[in-house]
Amino acid sequence: MAKKNPTKGFPAPPKVEELMTGTTVFNIPFPHDLKTLKKMSPLVIKHPYSVEYIHSYGQDSPFFAGLANKKLLGTKCKKCDTTYATPRLACTTCGRETEWVELPQEGRVHTFTTCYFGSEEFLKETPFHLVLVEFDGVNTLLLARLIGPEGPADIRIGMKVRARFRRNSQLKPTDVYFVPAG
Ligand SMILES: [Zn+2]
Repeated sequence: MAKKNPTKGFPAPPKVEELMTGTTVFNIPFPHDLKTLKKMSPLVIKHPYSVEYIHSYGQDSPFFAGLANKKLLGTKCKKCDTTYATPRLACTTCGRETEWVELPQEGRVHTFTTCYFGSEEFLKETPFHLVLVEFDGVNTLLLARLIGPEGPADIRIGMKVRARFRRNSQLKPTDVYFVPAG
């Protein structure tokens, strides 16, 4: 009995066009015995990956506008006067709405850490120091980079630090960093 040819009388199916981008591989070993495939080493490929990410700062926008204008902004509760170095639009003590206030640009190291590893964005800058800065009259701390001291032995709890701002704002929290004051 002759086999039926399902494509007989029809044009050949189109082929997907070959691409000249992405990973190009040649001669990947492949066994005759499929049972050995479970012992195969994982294939690892590399390719560029990027996304455009549109992110709204929403009610935090004034904080970033402040950084771009070399001002450090926090918020202050209209009712109980609790002042936040990392701005919050509602008071976590009493729940009332807060208002924007300018923070002092000098403070003290409350605590610090030196990072020898970091996320992809910061990895190339390691090691770097992070400090929690305390300000007079402000109830919460601000996390920022401390630039200047070479190693952790050069940083002291309570040492005075001063805010500095990137000349070209990136509209990111890293627009502000601290240096030893005086
Ligand atoms: Zn309050």
